[in-house]
Amino acid sequence: MSTDRLAELALNLSEVNARVDAACIAAHRPRSEVQLLAVTKTFPATDLDLLAKLGCTDVGESRDQEARSKKEDVAHSLRWHMIGQVQRKKAKQVALWADIVESVDRIELAQALDAGAQAAGKCLDVLIQVSLHPVGLPHRGGVSRDELAPLAEVILAASHLNLAGVMAVAPLEGDPTAAFALLAGSHQRLLSLAPQATIVSAGMSGDLEAAITHGATQVRIGGALLGNRPPLK
Ligand SMILES: *Cc1c(COP(=O)(O)O)cnc(C)c1O
Repeated sequence: MSTDRLAELALNLSEVNARVDAACIAAHRPRSEVQLLAVTKTFPATDLDLLAKLGCTDVGESRDQEARSKKEDVAHSLRWHMIGQVQRKKAKQVALWADIVESVDRIELAQALDAGAQAAGKCLDVLIQVSLHPVGLPHRGGVSRDELAPLAEVILAASHLNLAGVMAVAPLEGDPTAAFALLAGSHQRLLSLAPQATIVSAGMSGDLEAAITHGATQVRIGGALLGNRPPLK
């Protein structure tokens, strides 16, 4: 029943907020610098409405079609983040429902999103997804750190995109702290080209503390907030 689900989400949210509070204190950062993004992929639209009731303002989705159909069903007004890989041919659709696309990792995609945003009559916020993996190893998306500046230049020149910052996923293996430190360095270099690009989206259920230590301004929390996710098909 939804009152039970509401209570479950409220408890999870208070636990996640307590972790974020403690990490901010440990990092000597104001709590107001770190935003919580509820990663709602695979969960039903009813959960998004319950999260909105609990004060969540931002949701993250990884699939175009799922996000579009949920957005039709959700009663509350939320800010919708696309955090999954975007195929070029889906860019136009994604530009319709997303308020921000966090996973821009190639020039052609930036150009397709710019055209989609123009067709939708809006200016779309975007983040550049940076790969924190050693070059040559399989990775979870993102530009290499040397490709960041050329991609940033393309986005800055695009008339309907607003470059708002960077996003990254820590490698599955190894120390997330070292990976988030690399991200902080890349973000500093980006700020010299784009001083308005202040968002650092990093940290998930398992590593939000390490991300906050290294300057994350947004953590993307799925499992710790919503519970176990059915595996993506
Ligand atoms: C699914 C996902 C998350 C949330 O991960 P959890 O470990 O469930 O908190 C965060 N970021 C991205 C890019 C994701 O795809």
